Amino acid sequence: MIPAPFTYVKARTMTEAHEALATHGDEAKLLAGGHSLIPLMKLRLATPSVLVDIASLPGLSGIRQEGNELVVGALTRHVLVERSPEVHRLVPLLAHTAALVGDPQVRNRGTIGGSVAHGDSASDLPVALLALGATFVATGPSGSRTITAKDFFVGFWQTALQPNEILTEIRVPITGAASNYQKFTVRSQDWAVVSVAVAGDAIALGAMGEIPLRATAVEAALRNGAAVREAAQLADSDTSPSSDIRASADYRRHLARVLTEDALVAAGR
Ligand code: FAD
Repeated sequence: MIPAPFTYVKARTMTEAHEALATHGDEAKLLAGGHSLIPLMKLRLATPSVLVDIASLPGLSGIRQEGNELVVGALTRHVLVERSPEVHRLVPLLAHTAALVGDPQVRNRGTIGGSVAHGDSASDLPVALLALGATFVATGPSGSRTITAKDFFVGFWQTALQPNEILTEIRVPITGAASNYQKFTVRSQDWAVVSVAVAGDAIALGAMGEIPLRATAVEAALRNGAAVREAAQLADSDTSPSSDIRASADYRRHLARVLTEDALVAAGR
């Protein structure tokens, strides 16, 4: 439970952070809330030789409305998203989902950007953000680019972020669409065994494959007039859930069908 030795670099500006990434390349990892990275380092599943601490970079924490979008800074902690009156009013699904991440300690340290950049399909916020059609702003040494949630998650703990890019903003369309998030856990305050987010016509699944997935078969069935119960039976189509100590793949398939129906009903479908 002791990480491999590493050098700690505290970045005070975005330029310092980019310089550190440029100097150390693949050896470096960004550190935000540390609530995913440090446990991995203790288990030696991650062994970066340099940690670039971005937790106090100015301007990356906060929540604001910009036109039809809610903009959440990447360093915004889960607790702020959970409690923000603006998030409750404009994108209630995001506040509801943030409130279900881990326990108060985790929500007090963990950041939305860290959760997204970690790229775990069992994490809560990526699933909600996929259903919400969010986009992610990544900033590299030569500028920024925007990546859709659909293109962002590319594999097990892998995202479209380049090693020299820093996630700076999460932008969520404000649609007013009915929404719901269902999360099944073995213990309370734990990662999802399976989760389902509904936002308008979009349905996303967590822990049903290496990345958060859209339940496209259910979406199509509903578009074609299927009843909710009938459509929800398709929730595990084109998924590849794993079997592990918490659930078998078959049980995850069953949960996906049940939770999808629950989420659709709770969202008023
Ligand atoms: P860090 O751990 O600092 O970083 C995670 C990864 O993202 C690292 O690879 C890092 O380099 C990278 N990164 C961080 N910020 C950026 C950035 N701005 N740009 C580019 N890359 C970046 N999560 C859930 O969803 N649901 C749960 O129920 C849950 N339960 C938990 C229970 C416990 C006991 C613990 C310890 C964690 C739990 N988590 C859960 C994870 C928690 O939400 C983490 O806070 C979150 O996944 C990562 O955020 P962080 O700020 O801590 O990121």
